[in-house]
Amino acid sequence: METVSITTSPTYDLTALRRAVITLLEPLGGMSAFVTSGERVLLKPNMLSAKEPDKAVTTHPSVVRVVAGLVKEAGGIVLIGDSPGIGGFLRVAEKSGIFKAARESGAPLVEFKEAVELQGSGTFRSIRIARAYYEADKIINLPKLKTHEMMTMTCAVKNLFGAVIGTEKAGWHLKAGSSRELFARVLLEIYLLKKPALNIVDAITAMEGNGPGSGDPIHLGLLIAGANPVAVDVIAGRLAGIPADMLCIEREAAKMGLPGALASDIRLCGSPIESIPEARFKLPTGLDVQFGLPSFLTKALKNQLISYPAANQKTCKLCGICRDACPPKAITIQNSALSVDNARCIRCWCCRELCPYDAMQTKSGLLLRTLKLLPGRK
Ligand code: SF4
Ligand code: SF4
Repeated sequence: METVSITTSPTYDLTALRRAVITLLEPLGGMSAFVTSGERVLLKPNMLSAKEPDKAVTTHPSVVRVVAGLVKEAGGIVLIGDSPGIGGFLRVAEKSGIFKAARESGAPLVEFKEAVELQGSGTFRSIRIARAYYEADKIINLPKLKTHEMMTMTCAVKNLFGAVIGTEKAGWHLKAGSSRELFARVLLEIYLLKKPALNIVDAITAMEGNGPGSGDPIHLGLLIAGANPVAVDVIAGRLAGIPADMLCIEREAAKMGLPGALASDIRLCGSPIESIPEARFKLPTGLDVQFGLPSFLTKALKNQLISYPAANQKTCKLCGICRDACPPKAITIQNSALSVDNARCIRCWCCRELCPYDAMQTKSGLLLRTLKLLPGRK
């Protein structure tokens, strides 16, 4: 059985949060069950882009600070690292508050720049992941619970994709094409290359709607932890009210026979899940409605059941960030207008994720819009 602990934590106030994290980890054996004296422990927060903590795009700096403190008390040497999808590492660290958290914790910030090449076990022959990540004695994964346009939800497993150097992420989107299943498998194989020792999810203020970069903050007041990120994600999805069959990564993990992919494999401890009010996250507008529909229908109506990105010409600043990041180069800017070539687009939604002006929107066909209006669908 995989153990997952849940604790309520209404606030990011440092004193209250420290108490909550200690309570969270107690049933798992406390921080000393994961960290041995003298080990170099890398904290891996979500540092997607340069947004303030209250936007809920990045892991809250208080979570980073409290966990860094507990690792130090357990005798570990703390490092804090990531490779943002967009923006300079220091700018993201500054704006997200993680720079200050690192300074106050006395922990160096490590930008993932140099990579090591590792042999893949299934989907890929080799993959380059950050040396600082691979060579740390222990990884403590600190994801933010958010909706995700391509994968429905991003939490513990998806946060480990940050181990791939920023500029190389787009290449993986391209290799995995528009297949969520294949991309989920790549993410799981990355997790298996270097398993985190511990995952602590910041779900105090989570994100719903058009995550992971442009959604709406939603207060859940929860922390979730466990050694197995797949099991942690299964529980996070349940707490967010996202149907299990829409969690692409966990579905794929179940097919691969990975431990923790089934709710029946998980032992819950801490706050009883029944005592936690059930949330029902708004899902991203770009998410296809193929989930739950018969496969013959989704095949026949594929083109009418999917959404494509389209820039809001009023708010788009033509900065070119999405164009430069688009894996298949489906975006062009000409004559002061941005256009997306739908035939090339693999609907990875990197453009929406990375747009600093929230200008990339969703264009859905009539059938898709109609289906989304049906009762029970968001
Ligand atoms: S959609 Fe956003 S990222 Fe793309 S060019 Fe416009 S403002 Fe820049
Ligand atoms: S246009 Fe956007 S969604 Fe389509 S492939 Fe490019 S980055 Fe991905």
